[in-house]
Amino acid sequence: MKGTLALVTGAAGGIGEAVARLLAARGAKVAAVDLDPRRIAGTAAALRVEGLDVTGFAADVTSSAAVEALVDEVESRLGPVRHLVNAAGVLRLGQARALSDQDWNATLAVNATGVFHVSRAVVNRMIPRGTGAIVTVASNAAGTARAEMAAYAASKAAATAFTKCLGLEVAHTGIRCNVVAPGSTDTPMLRGMHTADTAAKASIAGNAEQFRVGIPLGKVASPEDVARTVAFLLSDDAGHITMHELTVDGGATLG
Ligand code: NAD
Repeated sequence: MKGTLALVTGAAGGIGEAVARLLAARGAKVAAVDLDPRRIAGTAAALRVEGLDVTGFAADVTSSAAVEALVDEVESRLGPVRHLVNAAGVLRLGQARALSDQDWNATLAVNATGVFHVSRAVVNRMIPRGTGAIVTVASNAAGTARAEMAAYAASKAAATAFTKCLGLEVAHTGIRCNVVAPGSTDTPMLRGMHTADTAAKASIAGNAEQFRVGIPLGKVASPEDVARTVAFLLSDDAGHITMHELTVDGGATLG
């Protein structure tokens, strides 16, 4: 990672911040992106206090114009983006038959269209350079039905398919595109699903209505578990891996 620039979206959130911290600790410069200017400035400042080279940028990934302006600004201030991590995401729970238009559209706008906007903006700048790696943080929900997650799962399936198709189209340029599919991970998103106390228990034990099989490894993932997998797929250790979906869920979806 030394000397490379990584752009991480959702970097004020649990997984995005862990990714930003790990990539910076391994020597990357990080452009940390999130929606709210004050939150991302706070995250970047806290990481700089840890001695890490992290700069905060505010942008809404649902706006293609904002994303193009963001990537222009990042590259003019910090240099060429070598690594992209799409970690921005939202979760709106609700039975499929009762979802509002607003919940459906807002979920797809961030989790699917946002991945499209940022990946397109970045990959078009990577192609002439003939190098780069993209990781989209999707979800194991993309491939396994879970009650109340229809919009979320559909958005993550779209992001996964998009990232793999992009990977195929740019493979000849040397750019790799992969997906990390976490299961339940201890972040504000997971805690927002239940009371803090019940979130981990429900994930681990299994719950017929929502989690189906539980987590065979007996614990939810930490954001760092997911971050290490993202860092691996970005690294030269994964130099012959592209269009791959790597599940990090303690066995919850049973492979
Ligand atoms: P989080 O809520 O802590 O972080 C998500 C971040 O995305 C937030 O900081 C939020 O502000 C940002 N974001 C939302 N909308 C945005 C927008 N329009 N533009 C820019 N940024 C925006 O959640 P997390 O658990 O860290 O999630 C990170 C990723 O991992 C998400 O894509 C999520 O779907 C995925 N994921 C999480 C879990 C889990 O159990 N926590 C499981 C599977 C997948």
